[in-house]
Amino acid sequence: MPLLEVLDLKVHFPVQPGVFRPAQAWVKAVDGVSFSIAPGETLGLVGESGCGKTTLGRAIVRLTAPTSGSVLFDGEDIAKLSGAAWRARRRKVQMIFQDPYGSLNPRTTIEEAIGEALDIHRLAADRAARRARVAELLKSVGLDPAYAQRYPHEFSGGQRQRIGIARALAVEPELIVCDEPVSALDVSVQAQIINLLQDLQQQHGLAYLFIAHDLAVVEHISRRVMVMYLGRVVELADAPGLIRTPKHPYTQALISAVPTVDSQTKRQRIVLPGDVPSPIQPPLGCPFHPRCPVADARRCRNEVPALRELAPGHWTACHLAG
Ligand code: SF4
Repeated sequence: MPLLEVLDLKVHFPVQPGVFRPAQAWVKAVDGVSFSIAPGETLGLVGESGCGKTTLGRAIVRLTAPTSGSVLFDGEDIAKLSGAAWRARRRKVQMIFQDPYGSLNPRTTIEEAIGEALDIHRLAADRAARRARVAELLKSVGLDPAYAQRYPHEFSGGQRQRIGIARALAVEPELIVCDEPVSALDVSVQAQIINLLQDLQQQHGLAYLFIAHDLAVVEHISRRVMVMYLGRVVELADAPGLIRTPKHPYTQALISAVPTVDSQTKRQRIVLPGDVPSPIQPPLGCPFHPRCPVADARRCRNEVPALRELAPGHWTACHLAG
């Protein structure tokens, strides 16, 4: 059974009427997304800014309320839990952010920031046990336990990300939504954080939804990769299959932009025309058709392509693929 199963999830935000838009409209940030994650698996999630990947991650941990659909964790719909039932489940699904500084209170020490999570879920019997657990968590993410009495501004970006990971680990989660955890870091620090996440996954059997816009990073850490465009999944496959034989024209364009040092696999860069259309008024038919280099004028403009399994485990939403 999958650890996480997302079924037809939609997150739509209302846009108030204005001078240029007299009627109420909706931003369809996530528009009918379905996928699953197995225990201990890493699913990479890529797409351009504004494609809905962060909103999807936030909806899974319930930082954003879904409009409809289900988020099943261990078979239970956590989108519909409340009160004690939700509190009991909440610690199993955690999130780490692109800017951990924004999620740390600048006036509390690191011991307080991590200890707070232990207090909320009553995971430390007393003060001494809490202090010992914080020290253990700091060690597990490669930080000196003596740092526990320092404040967030005393750390570098990479160290803050380690603190964010320690805080997520404090409540013994089974799934962590990693929202662009290395995008703001130097390349050498990125590699250290990726290695740390992989080591922790091995030690604790964690599953990750790893959100990023850098396909090279996602390919390195993920078993499968999912590509989103304008709130929808356009391709989902195992990482090597998606990188070597992308079937959706959007994925092909994303992959063509990934630098390669191997002259054998030199790719021809596909430059897409125009920008991502507004999610308030997405194009009719295939949402990618205004930018698609191979669009079929009749079918692609009128018919929304369904996600189809073109090869075992390789799903694509394109009328012409395959
Ligand atoms: Fe391009 Fe048509 Fe496929 Fe959409 S359905 S990606 S427009 S070919």
